[in-house]
Amino acid sequence: MNWQIELADSQATVALGRQIAQSISEALCIFLHGDLGAGKTTLTRGIVQGLGHQGNVKSPTYTLVEPYQLANWQVNHFDLYRLADPEELEFIGIRDYFGPGQVAVIEWPEKGAGMLGKADLTITLTYQQEARMAQCCADTPAGERLLNQLLS
Ligand code: ADP
Ligand code: MG
Repeated sequence: MNWQIELADSQATVALGRQIAQSISEALCIFLHGDLGAGKTTLTRGIVQGLGHQGNVKSPTYTLVEPYQLANWQVNHFDLYRLADPEELEFIGIRDYFGPGQVAVIEWPEKGAGMLGKADLTITLTYQQEARMAQCCADTPAGERLLNQLLS
């Protein structure tokens, strides 16, 4: 299942993230693809704030992962841009970040190839002049349920 939407500005990107958050009803893994500056962290901000986080959301570039313990979910925001070797994910105890009650949002998942599970939802952000395009693809039944909820 596929769906795409044009995002006119960064507020639209945050709004999509908040909409995704409102549609989350089970543990989930979301992969975010896109070039530097495409809006992955901005989208994550919408998801994390939509799940109840009050403050800012910045990319956890040096720590690889930033966990947010929220009312109903623990959201684990990964940015793997600087990951030199997927094996490094062993050292941060990658498995502990996936499980019941946890939502994983992963920027640059391709850098962790072989060490990450399958995504439920893959979102690819691309430049459209000054704006962006988001392509959302459900890869599992959980991802389908989320997209169906989002579009209902
Ligand atoms: P990434 O994490 O993919 O590197 P960021 O989320 O940090 O990208 O966003 C980079 C810049 O793009 C930010 O200045 C952000 O405000 C801007 N931006 C995000 N979404 C949009 C959009 N839909 N249209 C225009 N600019 C956007
Ligand atoms: Mg980023």
